[in-house]
Amino acid sequence: MNYYSTNKKAPVADFREAAIKGQAPDKGLYFPERIPQVDPELIRNLDDYSNEEIAFRVIQPYVGATIDEAQLFQIVSETVNFPIPLVPVTDQISSLELFHGPTLAFKDIGARFMSRCLGYFTKDRKEKITVLVATSGDTGGAVANGFFNVEGVEVVILYPSGKVSPVQEKQLTTLGHNIQALEVSGTFDDCQAMVKHAFADPELTQKLFLTSANSINVARWLPQQFYYFFAYKQWQCKDQPPVIAVPSGNFGNICAGILAMQSGLPVKHFIAACNVNDIVSAYLTTEILQPREAVPTLSNAMDVGNPSNFVRILEIFNHQFPLLKDKLSSATISDAATEQTIGEVFRQFHYTLDPHGAVGYLSLANYLQKHPEQKGMFLETAHPVKFPDAVERNTKEEQIIPASLEPMMQQPKQSIFMAPGYQNLKEYLWNKV
Ligand SMILES: *Cc1c(COP(=O)(O)O)cnc(C)c1O
Repeated sequence: MNYYSTNKKAPVADFREAAIKGQAPDKGLYFPERIPQVDPELIRNLDDYSNEEIAFRVIQPYVGATIDEAQLFQIVSETVNFPIPLVPVTDQISSLELFHGPTLAFKDIGARFMSRCLGYFTKDRKEKITVLVATSGDTGGAVANGFFNVEGVEVVILYPSGKVSPVQEKQLTTLGHNIQALEVSGTFDDCQAMVKHAFADPELTQKLFLTSANSINVARWLPQQFYYFFAYKQWQCKDQPPVIAVPSGNFGNICAGILAMQSGLPVKHFIAACNVNDIVSAYLTTEILQPREAVPTLSNAMDVGNPSNFVRILEIFNHQFPLLKDKLSSATISDAATEQTIGEVFRQFHYTLDPHGAVGYLSLANYLQKHPEQKGMFLETAHPVKFPDAVERNTKEEQIIPASLEPMMQQPKQSIFMAPGYQNLKEYLWNKV
């Protein structure tokens, strides 16, 4: 399988090259030359297959010969080695719980797959790879955990001091070894600007092999298809495919779901569940994508003003607006409605939502009110304990940190404090090698 750049001004790349580069040289996103079809027998008999087998068969055509089959099976097995249950919340609505991985966020799947692929691709290189990421919370933890102790890879994570939750901060700062957290006395935007500057600095990139681990990397994007198949495996009424609501920020997750549907997975309809950062909602009415500055919300992993993966959705539908509109709608959920939903769903159905899941739940519930004959699921993308303030305020229940995290919570935080500004980051990276 080859990948072309969505800007069409770069040579095609195989999976290995696309995964190492991240972004195409013309600043476009890599996209597969064709969408492989999953064997209909596999879809009909999903129940008979293990999650490892399903994941392997979904991803193998995308990886092609760049990873040998036994190694790839090992990689997918390590990627999906935790439960991903589909839990009924009401008669019509189920929750696909994607938060049972090591950092309690759906990003674990993509980060674990990507880190293992990069580890495989770089194992014979002399030069180390440095993965540089800015995080507002979830990405950094998943990436740190995924790359922990991966040989030949150093990870440097920038996060805004005092602006991530206690669990998130521990996830970033307690691993050590090849993971270094830089605690920036500024905002997420400051962190992001420092990272972007580093990638654009030829003097630095000559000296260091830098790569990013954000969701535009095909090795992070494509494995996110796995759990849509696992969800359908657990779906009770197979003759009535689900409506799926996906809490969306950069649109990598929902785009993977749409790709799975185009490869043969039965899905009735997708809902992009957004907070007030909802430029895609406007696009679906006006056909114009108008990026805006992001505003901060409770579901902060979705505070994105210019979703980088949206172009891939256009590519899947061949830029045919009517086809896209038929399969995708979007919803905008305010912080007030998010809080109210967390409270109501807890009282009525004894189910605890995190703010991102609440946006998904309410988007789906509103849609099903207009389509009462249908049923659906939303993706619960993070564990509620990662957002304790909003959850406890509305459920009036204390959020207990899962026992599996206790050892981590006891570890001392290790971070390097840094003022915003690229020179500080450059000096640090320069002296590191
Ligand atoms: C990253 C994230 C999202 C948004 O996912 P995208 O793929 O960027 O659309 C939603 N919820 C949580 C908890 C996240 O961490």
